[in-house]
Amino acid sequence: MKTCTCCGSENEDQAPKCRECGTEFVLGPASTKPTPEEPRETERFEKIAVLDNEVQAELLDEVLSGRGIPHIMQSYHDSALDGLFQAGKGWGAILAPESFKEEILAALADIKRQSQSASGEPEAANS
Ligand SMILES: [Zn+2]
Repeated sequence: MKTCTCCGSENEDQAPKCRECGTEFVLGPASTKPTPEEPRETERFEKIAVLDNEVQAELLDEVLSGRGIPHIMQSYHDSALDGLFQAGKGWGAILAPESFKEEILAALADIKRQSQSASGEPEAANS
């Protein structure tokens, strides 16, 4: 026998619903709530590089977004990150799965080169 959770009357074990009030019995463990678990942290985000300034961060963010590379920009000014980084060194850091590390570092190197030549450095244009 099982007891109706709604009205308290007893019903047969196999009864699909209460014979008194009609409440449907849930069979087995309640699984009405689907728990959509997203496979998020399959790859850990590592600190890839330190960014010198916000311009650099924005450029890199643009490049990586364009390539579909997952990444997180973290500014030292973000108070939520107190203690995670040493303040006062650069602007912030970029975090990404380690498998993208080389590609990101290469992109960052490109950006640094470009910002250098853009700032009027008399660097030889060796193409
Ligand atoms: Zn009932």
